Amino acid sequence: MDTGVGPDGEAAEATGESRVPRRGFLRSLVAWGAGIAAVGVGVPEANALRQGTRAAGTAAAATGTRLRRWAMVIDLRRCDGCQAIDEPPRCTQACIQGHLAPEPMQWIEVYEAPLPGGGTQFIPSPCMQCQNPPCVNVCPVGATFSTPEGIVLVDQMRCIGCRICMEACPYDRRFFNWGSPPIPREAALTEYSAEHEVPAIRGTVMKCEFCPDLARGGRRPYCSQACPNGCIYYGDLEEDLATNGREVVRLSRFLSKNTAFRLKEELGTDPRVFYIPGYGQDVGRSPYRRGLKRILWPWRRVAAGSERWGR
Ligand code: SF4
Ligand code: SF4
Repeated sequence: MDTGVGPDGEAAEATGESRVPRRGFLRSLVAWGAGIAAVGVGVPEANALRQGTRAAGTAAAATGTRLRRWAMVIDLRRCDGCQAIDEPPRCTQACIQGHLAPEPMQWIEVYEAPLPGGGTQFIPSPCMQCQNPPCVNVCPVGATFSTPEGIVLVDQMRCIGCRICMEACPYDRRFFNWGSPPIPREAALTEYSAEHEVPAIRGTVMKCEFCPDLARGGRRPYCSQACPNGCIYYGDLEEDLATNGREVVRLSRFLSKNTAFRLKEELGTDPRVFYIPGYGQDVGRSPYRRGLKRILWPWRRVAAGSERWGR
């Protein structure tokens, strides 16, 4: 499927106190993928996925190997909302294209927020992947669940569409799929997986799933790959490493040295998405330059029947 984003390149390996060589980390991502596949997570059905991830946890405990604890760092010092390239936010566009997300869903949405002294900052907001997730705690049928790697998924085969989880999410990062959108012909044979949510299933809840299928192949999420400024780091708290495709950082030091924060920390949800404060100053953005380009759903241009489809 053409996502409009390039694959991870073996780009510059930065030096510096919180920066480490990149090749080894990506290799270890691939090795992790091979290990998980061996215990069954590659099975497409969501129930098998659930059993597979449990088996992964058990297998890891038995063999003494480490499970990944996936995390994301969004460096707001580099986010200019894609104003410099005069495009809609590429992170959002790439996520939509990679998952054929139905309109008007933006699994990662870029908010423009006022700064205390005037001007604005942009805040890309995916699912926060909480470790104490209110959505999981309220789901009456267990359709929303956490994997041992700390990713919150929705099993749309089990979801009954009650939308209680949407009420419970304090970040407003869950979306209800009201229809059955057409999908491009080349994606017609895609097998449903809770890790990818394609094809979209009518009457169920959908959201950012942190792209564990890409991580298994040693690649970063679509949003991270597409960002022209390298704002979005993806990595593993267990290994204490993350990369934005240009450099690898030692996660703990990177977070502490840059006074990282998490959204609505006071709620005790324990998110796995961290932010480094800023307003795009590292890429030359003035805080007084306002406005984002309107998001498009580019896959609709190639899906037959899209022009007549409404949710
Ligand atoms: S995170 Fe990157 S891709 Fe997303 S809006 Fe900011 S600069 Fe653009
Ligand atoms: S991690 Fe994956 S699903 Fe989540 S916003 Fe990024 S591309 Fe979309």
